[in-house]
Amino acid sequence: MSEDLFTLYDLKVEVVETGRPFVCSHEVGDYFLVQGENLIFPQTKQFSLYSLAALLPLLPAKQRAYQRNDWMLSDAVIACPDPNCGAGFKITRTKQREFSHAETTVEPIYEGEDL
Ligand SMILES: [Zn+2]
Repeated sequence: MSEDLFTLYDLKVEVVETGRPFVCSHEVGDYFLVQGENLIFPQTKQFSLYSLAALLPLLPAKQRAYQRNDWMLSDAVIACPDPNCGAGFKITRTKQREFSHAETTVEPIYEGEDL
């Protein structure tokens, strides 16, 4: 294994029911994928921009490894930002993918103390 490689998880973000009716345009089963920096929408349907805005900050964190006790690992269903909407968005790790540091940034590899 090259010392230049690092691993991220591919993600699937899927609309799920939480027991309350939906207010927005979500449909159960709608989903998108996250592979590296890319969002992939295999379906031709729409996806709420408000929901996407709520999900975006979490996706890079969900792509990375955690300690076993970290709540970010166990908590995977994100609520719709509309407080009247019952939709949830389940984030699932689908597989690991390797990336080259040199192919993802022009900055040198961090050489400080382990964080
Ligand atoms: Zn909603």
